[in-house]
Amino acid sequence: MFLEPPLGNQIQSGRKGQIEVICGSMFSGKTEELIRRLNRAIIARQKVEIFKPSVDIRYDERNVVSHNESIIRSTPVQFANDILLLAGNCDVVGIDETQFFDEQIVTVAERLARSGVRVILAGLDMDFEGKPFEPMPQLLAVAEYVTKVHAICMKCGDLASFSYRLSAEKSKVMLGEKESYEARCRRCFYGEHA
Ligand SMILES: [Zn+2]
Repeated sequence: MFLEPPLGNQIQSGRKGQIEVICGSMFSGKTEELIRRLNRAIIARQKVEIFKPSVDIRYDERNVVSHNESIIRSTPVQFANDILLLAGNCDVVGIDETQFFDEQIVTVAERLARSGVRVILAGLDMDFEGKPFEPMPQLLAVAEYVTKVHAICMKCGDLASFSYRLSAEKSKVMLGEKESYEARCRRCFYGEHA
């Protein structure tokens, strides 16, 4: 589990922001971990806003819904730059499904952090072909804290970090994940098990 570094009074003083990235495959609990961190900030009466790309319409238009049904209200936005306009005077900005944002999300996260905001981004680090999923690699590079969470391989039960697509569909963005994907370990992803 990720243990938050001491934040001290940096949020109150508004001087020091940071970037945290939560990455991993599908079914690895990225959204649950994002929600866990955000809930704790909300309990502490920090001002929290949550954004997700409007392309992600799997479950609900307004809410970040994790697979275990924890719900936090979120704002769908089309472009990464929209977040700068909407984030206002937040203490904490959460971003879900970050891999679906345009590359400006990197600049947006950096600008927010420099203005004193704690920015927490969750997203897939690899696509269904096992390739780095831009713009996530750029965010991993500039973040202060990176947490890689794992799923369980649905073939063999090992830890899984790959998202295996069950259909032959080739487009990078394909919604309706539960039916279309399995979490797999490296060996099972590349079919090296009997
Ligand atoms: Zn496996």
